[in-house]
Amino acid sequence: MKRKLFTATIAGTIALSMAGIGPSAASAVGNGPGYGGNETINTSILTTYEEMVSFLKKQEDKQKHMELEVFGQSVKGRDLYLVKYLTNPNNPTILFLTQQHGNEALNTEGALEFIKHLGTGKMKGVLDGVNILIVPRLNPDGAAGDVNFPLDDYVASGSYNLTRYNANEVDLNRDHTARLQPETKAFHDNVLGVYDVDYMIDLHHQGSNSEREGELVSGSILYPTTPNVEADVLLKSKQLGAVIFNAIDSKGWGHLGKYNGGSAETISRNGIAVEYGIATLLFEMRGMADHNYEPYVLGQKSNGYLIKQTVTTMDAAVRAIADRSIENADISFWDTLAFQNGRLSE
Ligand SMILES: [Zn+2]
Repeated sequence: MKRKLFTATIAGTIALSMAGIGPSAASAVGNGPGYGGNETINTSILTTYEEMVSFLKKQEDKQKHMELEVFGQSVKGRDLYLVKYLTNPNNPTILFLTQQHGNEALNTEGALEFIKHLGTGKMKGVLDGVNILIVPRLNPDGAAGDVNFPLDDYVASGSYNLTRYNANEVDLNRDHTARLQPETKAFHDNVLGVYDVDYMIDLHHQGSNSEREGELVSGSILYPTTPNVEADVLLKSKQLGAVIFNAIDSKGWGHLGKYNGGSAETISRNGIAVEYGIATLLFEMRGMADHNYEPYVLGQKSNGYLIKQTVTTMDAAVRAIADRSIENADISFWDTLAFQNGRLSE
């Protein structure tokens, strides 16, 4: 049986708002309410696989420069989608990857919103200077809870749960060298092995209680940390990080820490940088959509700002590559950016 432990009552919500404890538009997203067992986490607000596919097809019909490709299938037979804006082969190319971990959902929501933006006048001219590839939701089975193992102890309520793993209970972001899973194999064979990619941002979600300098973070970032990465790839990765840090940390709702990540090349941030010479950045957004470990799950009241954080990240990267300003990005902030640390009191 699924646990439904924490249901916020309307009266409770009103009391919180009157006491000024509720979420306010002015507060940093990092300081928005955590889950903390105080509200119902309902997965019905998230875009389902079927909704995502229908959205992508509609955008392809509407957008002149957008092309949709199916590059493989998941364990359970769901098509894996690549969204392409390839205007000029001489331009640099950036690849965005979301939801390798199925329960890290809001980056996909942000990516879909960004795809919509790319079809509007707001992005006029930007596509002349950059090629964009987007893989939204590499793990559609985990995101739909359609997996070969039980999710009974997961926190979220709704018609399904979301899990980190693919249907075979494998962590796709530890499968980038062996590629034993169809999702990672297709991603390498039919995306990384086919397209000439210069930059990649791998978008994830982390737990909800990390802080930098005493303030909860809205996310964290890191470049490749394997000793085998080429110096120029590392430099470009740090420049990509600089563009994102400047775009996010200056916002009232943005506060980024340095992610404390390992050097294993089974992880995309490291392995892809070494194997393909692609400059990579890991972006870890605060809080997950579902988990069996409650402190990882974030209340939904910050969703709007977190989705905006993804859109801002993608927009900033694309513009800095399109106008080549990324090549002059000052990477010195990395020397002083503090690692985030866990807040122990919660
Ligand atoms: Zn992840």
